[in-house]
Amino acid sequence: MKALRKNGSEGEPIPVITIGEDEALEIELSEDLLKENRRLAAEVRRMLDDHDVYAVDVMGSIGSGKTSIIEKLVQMLKNTLRIGMIAGDAASTIDAGRVMKHGVPTVQVNTGRECHLDGNLVLKALDKLNLKDLDLLFIENVGNLICPADYPLGAHRRLVVISVTEGCDMVVKHPLIFMEADVLAVNKMDLAHLMDVEVDKMGKDALMLNRRIKVVYTSAKTGEGLDNLIDALEVPLNPRKK
Ligand code: MG
Ligand code: ZN
Repeated sequence: MKALRKNGSEGEPIPVITIGEDEALEIELSEDLLKENRRLAAEVRRMLDDHDVYAVDVMGSIGSGKTSIIEKLVQMLKNTLRIGMIAGDAASTIDAGRVMKHGVPTVQVNTGRECHLDGNLVLKALDKLNLKDLDLLFIENVGNLICPADYPLGAHRRLVVISVTEGCDMVVKHPLIFMEADVLAVNKMDLAHLMDVEVDKMGKDALMLNRRIKVVYTSAKTGEGLDNLIDALEVPLNPRKK
């Protein structure tokens, strides 16, 4: 589909090409793929629920602070809950190492050319964790604001992390992920005063796309807003099993 939008400088129309549902080349393959992913995600959820493990899918671009937030939440919650982590990354075990040093059983998934986790990869990772010994599982998705939106992983909550240093248009440029997420953390608030960004706009834009998204303003560095984040994620603080 082609459309013209009249918001260029000096009012000249900007040609915009939007890929229609019937235009993507591999549409049949991808619909089958998404359907299969939903089936696998449901399997993940069943496994988690069978073991009373509450899972949070942490999405966001590279450098937004996903790992730093997980590290801080682990420090805040590790005396209350038994926590595990699945770290998705194209390569390297850097993030897994950062969280593991807090005594959290961690599985690294290196996705290579894939820029998102999917249900199959999470199932494989769950195989390597002792679910019966966990209450809470963080799944750090690959740093990317686009396709993780299409691949639910069976987690109980989907968190998207953006940072004030990424600029205030992050939300409007990547609408799908904010439509899919349950919670938005606007992170690096400690740097907000250095940036020429309207921090509130990021939250408002997300609420325009998704009225039920919960917006919290955080700094993994100072700890600002992290209590609110735990509330927003509805992490059960009284695990049902012992
Ligand atoms: Mg990370
Ligand atoms: Zn991807």
